[in-house]
Amino acid sequence: MSHPHFPHLFRPLDLGHVTLPNRVLMGSMHTGLEEVGDWNRIAAFYGERAAGGAGLIVTGGMSPNPEGGVFAGAAGLFSDTDIANHRVVTDRVHSEGGRIAMQILHAGRYAYNPKAVAPSPIKSPISPFPPNELDEAGIRKQIADFVTAACRAREAGYDGVEIMGSEGYFINQFLVTHTNKRQDDWGGSLENRMRLATTIVEQVRQAVGPDFIIIYRLSMLDLVPNGQTWDEVVYLAKRIEAAGASIINTGIGWHEARIPTIATSVPRAAFSWVTKKMMGEVGIPLITSNRINMPEVAESVLSDGCADMVSMARPFLADAEFVNKAERGASGTIVPCIACNQACLDHTFQMKISSCLVNPRAAHETELVYDPVEVPKNIAVVGSGPAGLSAALVANERGHSVTLYDRDSQIGGQLNMAKKIPGKEEFIGLVEYYDRAVRASSIDLQLGVEPDPDTLAKFDLVIVATGVDPRDPEIPGQDGPNVVGYVDVLRGGAEVGRRVAVIGAGGIGFDVSEYLSHEGVSPTEDLDLWLREWGVHDPEDSRGGLAEQGASHEPAAREITLLQRKSTQPGKGLGKTTGWIHRLSLRSKGVRMKAGVNYEEINDRGLVLSDGPDRRNRRLLEVDTVVLCAGQVSRRSLFDELTKRGINAVVIGGADVAGELDAKRAIDQGSRLAAEI
Ligand code: NAP
Ligand code: SF4
Repeated sequence: MSHPHFPHLFRPLDLGHVTLPNRVLMGSMHTGLEEVGDWNRIAAFYGERAAGGAGLIVTGGMSPNPEGGVFAGAAGLFSDTDIANHRVVTDRVHSEGGRIAMQILHAGRYAYNPKAVAPSPIKSPISPFPPNELDEAGIRKQIADFVTAACRAREAGYDGVEIMGSEGYFINQFLVTHTNKRQDDWGGSLENRMRLATTIVEQVRQAVGPDFIIIYRLSMLDLVPNGQTWDEVVYLAKRIEAAGASIINTGIGWHEARIPTIATSVPRAAFSWVTKKMMGEVGIPLITSNRINMPEVAESVLSDGCADMVSMARPFLADAEFVNKAERGASGTIVPCIACNQACLDHTFQMKISSCLVNPRAAHETELVYDPVEVPKNIAVVGSGPAGLSAALVANERGHSVTLYDRDSQIGGQLNMAKKIPGKEEFIGLVEYYDRAVRASSIDLQLGVEPDPDTLAKFDLVIVATGVDPRDPEIPGQDGPNVVGYVDVLRGGAEVGRRVAVIGAGGIGFDVSEYLSHEGVSPTEDLDLWLREWGVHDPEDSRGGLAEQGASHEPAAREITLLQRKSTQPGKGLGKTTGWIHRLSLRSKGVRMKAGVNYEEINDRGLVLSDGPDRRNRRLLEVDTVVLCAGQVSRRSLFDELTKRGINAVVIGGADVAGELDAKRAIDQGSRLAAEI
């Protein structure tokens, strides 16, 4: 009988020797746990996802040899000890009824390692190390190492392997002349360029036998100059099928591509049309991926015939129970991944263990545990921003009696401003999720209420999460009618003129500039517009899917100048993996950015600026409106008052520390506090 809500998602997939229970692949993610080497913790991470219903899990990339690691010391399956360690993981997944494949990832010239190897010695723009060109014997060794890694994976109990052939990694580097300048059997003609890919799949299949899943991740859209033509991609897919792959997964964009492919501003399921073009070209199942984050999106992708299966990776960090919740018709209880990258990919690039902004337990399952409490307390939480919400929900889940106050008429705090920004629409779903979660819980929600200390004195504990106030930049003339704060703009809908100066180029200054530069529909909500803006084209007409004319962003609706006092690059403190998108997006819209300025005064004609410590070049920037985005200060008067009166209180989130405040820190702090009380 088909599933009442998601009939395509919950249709089993027959792979011959094995049948997967549903069409959901948990895609590969690097968590950093393997490098730490706590195998019980890794087993707990994958075990929870297997128990949560993922049809097939793919591990983070394991290097086939030391030179192929993403960085020196990256994890791989190199020895018998490694095999025994990985068995702890596969045993746990199998005991939970799941299946797991190991991804074999050879980084080639992307390896952050002077020992990096590649088809040609061409340095990538995202690594400082020029790779060493492989000779014939070197290439044969790399192939043999892939085969050995697959055999070890089988020995370690994996149900299959995923061979990473996309995102600009080693195999992908052989496929295109962008990175392969060889004149021997491994370069030049198409046949020669794809020899590495097909030989690896062929030899892996021969070595592992027929009853083992081989997924090949195929770059369907390179998004780099001189990428593959669509004919080449289709031809390669057919050859990969003939070589013995069981499934083809979709890869979109090389890591060096200057087009966002998974950030929150990318429309949902933005690249499923690419996989759809491949449907019918091969007989084996196809998986589509990128920005599929809810079961409804996955179902519609499958029912539209875009693919046989969907890959979701980050949504499994946000909620390990994703599939089970969808299956029992409770998709509204799924904690949504907002595609922010802040606690997952950004952590990877900072060599930190991954987690998840909306679920700090991700990859911390053994360390952050929400056990039921023996003696429930009566707890008040004041403030329903991310810090207060997470503290209230976790405390309530553990059995405490919680009253949640907010002086606003809605929950969400600063999230309600984020959700107004074009490109940050996922925050709408996040606030809605929190709203449902609070209302479905036994939390006593008191909106529009600012409790006084007398009211709070009756609780066993008061958690103060009262958030932040905008910082006063104390600029002469800032009380004029042509000056507004970011809260007035994003919450109050304050009038903003055509020529605008934005004071402060932190996260909020960038967000406000994005908000003010748009008019009409957000490109994130209009796939054709988004593809046009970023210069993504049908790969049948243009190599690698890059539009000939490049990106063509709509001009900004206003003339905006974004300013900061520091002389560093504006937006430097934004997310590691997303800051470039914010900067490029605003620059493409003609937003001017100016660092190293002083704000001398604001008058009725605009903002008077000067440069540098010696305040030279005093001049008027003629603008209609000045918007203040000069950071924030903690709102902690309530906490101070409670402490003075001896009431048991703790302060979290922005009310605790306003600097560098973001939702990740707020949710993490709220959840961890509630796990301990
Ligand atoms: P912020 O990142 O701390 O930036 C504050 C800005 O105000 C800076 O550009 C700072 O630059 C300027 N400033 C500080 N003191 C000033 C003063 N007295 N007069 C004039 N300018 C002053 O704070 P935010 O922009 O309010 O963002 C808060 C947090 O929200 C961020 O830390 C971020 O984590 C998070 N957030 C992130 C994003 C994102 O990543 N896209 C978006 C929104 C919010 P100068 O001191 O050099 O002038
Ligand atoms: Fe998704 Fe952000 Fe969590 Fe990463 S940190 S999984 S992008 S919500």
